[in-house]
Amino acid sequence: MRDPRYDILFEPVKLGPLTAKNRFYQVPHCNGGGYRDPSAVAEMRRVKSEGGWGVIFTEQVEIHHTSEITPFIELRLWEEKDMPSFVKMADAIHEHGALAGVELAYPGVNGPNLYTREVPMAPVNMPILTFTSDPVQARAMDKEDIRNLREWHRQSYRRAKRAGFDILCLYGAHGFGVIQHFLSPRINQRTDEYGGSLKNRARLLAELVADARDEVGDTCAIAVRLSLDEMAGPDGFTNAELRELVAMHAELPDIWDFAHGTWEACSGTSRFKEEAAQEDLIRGLKQLTPKPVVGVGRFTSADQMVRQVKQGLLDFIGAARPSIADPFLPKKIDEGRIEDIRECIGCNICVTGDMTMGLSRCTQNSSFMEEWRKGWHPERMRKTAPAKKVLVVGSGPAGLSAAHRLGLRGYEVVLAEARKEVGGRVTLESKLPGLSAWARVRDYRMGQIGKMTNVELYRDSKLTAEDVLAFGAQHVCVATGSLWRRDAAARFHLRPVPIAAGVRVLTPDDIMAGEKASGHVLIYDDDHYYMGGVMAEALLKMGCTVTLVTPSVKVSEWATNTLEQGFIQKRLLDHGVDVQVTRALVSAGVGEAVIACTYTGREERVACDAVLMVTSRLPVDGLLHDLRAVTAAWADNGIESVKAIGDAEAPSSAIAWSTYAGHRYAEELDEPERGDQLPFRREIAEILT
Ligand code: ADP
Ligand code: SF4
Repeated sequence: MRDPRYDILFEPVKLGPLTAKNRFYQVPHCNGGGYRDPSAVAEMRRVKSEGGWGVIFTEQVEIHHTSEITPFIELRLWEEKDMPSFVKMADAIHEHGALAGVELAYPGVNGPNLYTREVPMAPVNMPILTFTSDPVQARAMDKEDIRNLREWHRQSYRRAKRAGFDILCLYGAHGFGVIQHFLSPRINQRTDEYGGSLKNRARLLAELVADARDEVGDTCAIAVRLSLDEMAGPDGFTNAELRELVAMHAELPDIWDFAHGTWEACSGTSRFKEEAAQEDLIRGLKQLTPKPVVGVGRFTSADQMVRQVKQGLLDFIGAARPSIADPFLPKKIDEGRIEDIRECIGCNICVTGDMTMGLSRCTQNSSFMEEWRKGWHPERMRKTAPAKKVLVVGSGPAGLSAAHRLGLRGYEVVLAEARKEVGGRVTLESKLPGLSAWARVRDYRMGQIGKMTNVELYRDSKLTAEDVLAFGAQHVCVATGSLWRRDAAARFHLRPVPIAAGVRVLTPDDIMAGEKASGHVLIYDDDHYYMGGVMAEALLKMGCTVTLVTPSVKVSEWATNTLEQGFIQKRLLDHGVDVQVTRALVSAGVGEAVIACTYTGREERVACDAVLMVTSRLPVDGLLHDLRAVTAAWADNGIESVKAIGDAEAPSSAIAWSTYAGHRYAEELDEPERGDQLPFRREIAEILT
């Protein structure tokens, strides 16, 4: 039963000619699948419809072949051949009563056209603005180009409507759409009626919306997605100018959708941004227009959502990541199941799927983008279990995820944990600076397991092979985790480096276990994700002087994919960390370390009292090997299988790999060997003859 204080979230809201059934609005978000995996994307959106969202959007849709953002994989609506995947998507979204939204984009100066090889266009002549500084320039658009651009948009409106979409959103946020490029005084240096004053810079936007209204406005709602602030200082499209624009064109679209200026600023991780971080930029905008307003803020708390509406900040609760982590978030609030919400931890592993052109995954929701490929569901399992007992050893994210999912299937599960505290690495890491939200990985699963009568938890139980044999379980899942290496072996040095006797060598495990450091500590980061920077912050808190040495060209390089790299490097520099990039550790002696330039090999000595290795990890697999050594005794003890999962199988610096491994173990435990068969469904391109 819904708590009446959340009723306001379930009020229907009018959007132009349509009405959304509630205020839950899944804003457009990428997923790494796009045009390559259309059925996987459609099924992912269908699950959100089942989960109760009132509005569900596609990701960015490139509307014309003259502008595309290869290598990133989004959707394309270039020709009639693209239509079936859009029809499939709209149908999937409609299945449980959501309105289907499509985000139409002409990337312009953000589109290098590496695939189509067309010459990109921008308001003026200028280099392409992408993450990768592609060696391409855009040409300035003349009046005919602008007329064509309007016509291409009209074509996309007609197609989107025919495909079944209800809301057409014109994309002008995050620096990714031509509308923003025209609005930005920094980019738009035109001297004709499309440049100069705000009225002129907004002309293209006004024309595109008018055209949309003309084409489809009787049946479709028109949304405009704009940046709250371009984040380029007074030269850019500022929050003050946005306010002027909304006041000037108060009734232009049917919905105003506000996102932060850059994608990095908009999709900040929990390490750098709180829930509702955009509130100051949003406040007062709704009062400038009679049209509904949607905004985002990694909202996972129903009380926070209610506050946003009641205080007149937003009409719709926009959500990308919270809808990924829990597609059933609206339904759970509606049914009074707040404690069942799988809260987003703000890690941005989902974003990495897009950035790496892989397929997005979610740390909290392992079924994300596996709904069609593997038939996984965020709330249900595919099959019920045979009457068997499974012993899961280790309660880190892998063990917890396996126990929860096995429990859902109906297995009799025993989860044994060596420590008093459950949660493995997420419990330990959540105590480090900026990572507290990561405890949600444990808390959600513990909450679910706690309600299951078929899952039993033993704390303080370090199991040996003998214990396991005596347990009477048919299946043994070894989720015993990993430990950081002390010898610097990782990517740059594949073998250990010389370390003199008496050198104080620390690892993140030592710091997480409460070991204190003092004096000058040299961090050697050959891991390249978050731990190096987090260790630097932890050492600073202890009062240490810190030098961070990494063979990479920047700190925490892989965190570029989580949109955090810039924030991490800035924080370290701001706090006085001596950052040494393109340097590798050569050796460590008492009182000093030798580092070398990765290009020239030139060596330098750095005085330090200790070295903290953030390099690679080794599986804690002693139990696994002990069990394998007594394979002959398995049958007599009723054991049918022993399998290592998560970090115990192969450690990952990202928790998502472990939660996924746990989920997979539970889904596939009683499946027959697949041999060479792919473990997922795949769509392949049509071969034309
Ligand atoms: P993962 O990411 O794969 O879940 P973690 O390192 O987070 O790995 O978790 C591993 C957990 O396994 C830790 O909590 C650790 O205490 C526990 N563990 C390790 N060895 C044993 C054992 N022999 N018996 C019970 N628990 C164990
Ligand atoms: Fe949230 Fe992380 Fe999942 Fe993305 S991957 S939705 S940030 S929990």
